[in-house]
Amino acid sequence: MDRRSFIGLGLSGFLILKNKNLYAINNHKSMLNKSKGETMSSKFELPPLPYAYDALEPYIDKWTMELHHTKHHQAYVNNLNKAIEGTEFADKSLEEIIANASRIPVAARNNGGGHWNHTFFWNIMKPNGGGFPVGELAEAINSTFGSFENFKKLFFDSAMGRFGSGWAWLIASDSKLVVASTPNQDNPLMDLAEVRGIPILGIDVWEHAYYLKYQNRRNEYIENWWNVVNWDAVNQNFLKAKNKR
Ligand code: MN
Repeated sequence: MDRRSFIGLGLSGFLILKNKNLYAINNHKSMLNKSKGETMSSKFELPPLPYAYDALEPYIDKWTMELHHTKHHQAYVNNLNKAIEGTEFADKSLEEIIANASRIPVAARNNGGGHWNHTFFWNIMKPNGGGFPVGELAEAINSTFGSFENFKKLFFDSAMGRFGSGWAWLIASDSKLVVASTPNQDNPLMDLAEVRGIPILGIDVWEHAYYLKYQNRRNEYIENWWNVVNWDAVNQNFLKAKNKR
């Protein structure tokens, strides 16, 4: 085989592969279009990111955001749908699935948590964020932790102290604000969480959330992350949590 036909073969192989992917995408779309109940495997869907992939630059880079949303979050959605297919949780809300984490298959717990946590995470960030807590949340943070700086230090220590993959949270728990962390894709809404409560703020400290830009420097990622926090959204989460109690 000469070089040219070898390249030609390589190219046609690529085209076949590409068409296969297109088929898979189209097939997935047609599954999504089926009426509810016909296929449970496409129940949950990836929500669109509320801003552009490069909107959180320079603190979180575009490539990280794009992979995080289109690959990682998408995989949690797909695997959650697979995990609950044919089970009693197939027609339950995400909140109900999460709340029953101790009695669902581990794949449903991990991927249900992954879907919930990432949807939450995108919404407590925004471009040109940062600054200081606002509204009633600002008062609650001051009265609970003494100051915003004290709270940030506690939250930082919680996020740094989480060994391996997981999340650090500010939660409303029994009418108190509490800082806690969870392993893997667990969260404080799960019945098996060590500290239970309603998440107000949370940071993803899986390496996939920061490694491309920060490598092993989780501390720098956490410090820079305060610049993209959407305090209006966090205050809204706090007010909603207060009303649920
Ligand atoms: Mn993540």
